[in-house]
Amino acid sequence: MLKNDMLDQWDRENFFHPSTHLAEFARGNLPNRVITGGTNCHIEDRDGTRLLDAFAGLYCVNVGYGRQDIAEAIAAQAKELAYYHAYVGHGTEASITLSKMILDRAPEHMSKVYFGMSGSDANETNIKLVWYYNNILGRPEKKKIISRWRGYHGSGLMTGSLTGLELFHKKFDLPLSQVIHTEAPYYFRRADTAMSEADFVAHCAAELEALIAEEGADTIAAFIGEPVLGTGGIVPPPAGYWEAIQAVLAKHDILLIADEVVTGFGRLGSMFGSEHYGLKPDLITIAKGLTSAYAPLSGSIVSDKMWKVLEQGTDENGPIGHGWTYSAHPIGAAAGVANLKLIDELNLVQQAGENGAYLNKVMAEAVGAHAHVGDVRGEGMLCAVEFVKDRNSRTFFDASEKVGARVAAALLEHGVIARAMPQGDILGFAPPFCLTTAEADEIADKTAKAVAAVLD
Ligand code: PLP
Repeated sequence: MLKNDMLDQWDRENFFHPSTHLAEFARGNLPNRVITGGTNCHIEDRDGTRLLDAFAGLYCVNVGYGRQDIAEAIAAQAKELAYYHAYVGHGTEASITLSKMILDRAPEHMSKVYFGMSGSDANETNIKLVWYYNNILGRPEKKKIISRWRGYHGSGLMTGSLTGLELFHKKFDLPLSQVIHTEAPYYFRRADTAMSEADFVAHCAAELEALIAEEGADTIAAFIGEPVLGTGGIVPPPAGYWEAIQAVLAKHDILLIADEVVTGFGRLGSMFGSEHYGLKPDLITIAKGLTSAYAPLSGSIVSDKMWKVLEQGTDENGPIGHGWTYSAHPIGAAAGVANLKLIDELNLVQQAGENGAYLNKVMAEAVGAHAHVGDVRGEGMLCAVEFVKDRNSRTFFDASEKVGARVAAALLEHGVIARAMPQGDILGFAPPFCLTTAEADEIADKTAKAVAAVLD
């Protein structure tokens, strides 16, 4: 337990917190919380409050908190060799082993992995690789990237542009002009309520076709999407969506980037979302679950098709002009190796699939019939509850009522952390894969109490 009684003051005076109302925090109108420890699905703060973390940090602590195997692997690596770079053919046993372990788990047509530190920088890498690829192929005009409204791909200049959420664009002069957005596969929020799911899928594909026609296929390089929309609302795609989208992309020779920062390494109950939904991506973005956030590490997995062109590019132009000081950082790589081993040993991908399905079932039973719950949805260890003002007319609350945030706050009072998703009144759940059925029951029961407290 921490004893420093200056922490509150130092926090408000010195610490620039991400995704925070800065002025309210500085004024002391927003609570702070100092986290001191965690075991499996629970974290603890300095006051001794124990919370069930039903969002696994930021859907990243997939193996759960307090895993000594990973901590020991990190410590051993730090003692032996804390750092060496990966430029011009350098590596460590951990980084080389991890790249092999990733490729062993990835779809068969993937060829190599480039390591970064975060999901955002991995997507920056991906866009650079796509541009390089088309330049090498002599198609300098084919550069625009299509993303989806409500997609989340990071918060850098390019990746914040790819992200399709208002908060991440507004006042930042984003999106950049090379990025265009298309319809989100969000059946529950479709404009035409009479549309069947199959018709909605056809509509999404037609919207994409129309955008490509308007811009010109020879100007469009790639399409990026999360297998399941994450931060935009935790929305599994309607049946047949990815098949329809991939058919359009193939027709126009547009690359597919599968952003698997959330879905990679088991969250859907499959090793990758690409496998789960039959995607054949040209690039896969990985981060979060690669190390279960025990150390920062991300990656871009490159397909055979793109790799051949990258090799051709370096034959023609010399070494690839891309690299970070911390690419393949040995400590991150050691964490990744230990994490993937642990996932296998504890059979956590299967547990995510089974107990995630159980969580979705008990959540639907607990709150699905409530007058202000419009939708309970999920896939694997992802679950969302969406609130509506009126179920029959499917009208939504005004954002100023902050219904999602109020329910999340009420749930926190009961000791459970869920996430009020940033756009819409959506309560998101993405617990560690080691969630037990008893913990799933607890989350569902307490969610029902929180919903009743705010909305009855
Ligand atoms: N891509 C997806 C799908 C994400 O969910 C996130 C983060 O939540 C990112 C990219 C960005 O990752 P990071 O926050 O590590 O930069």
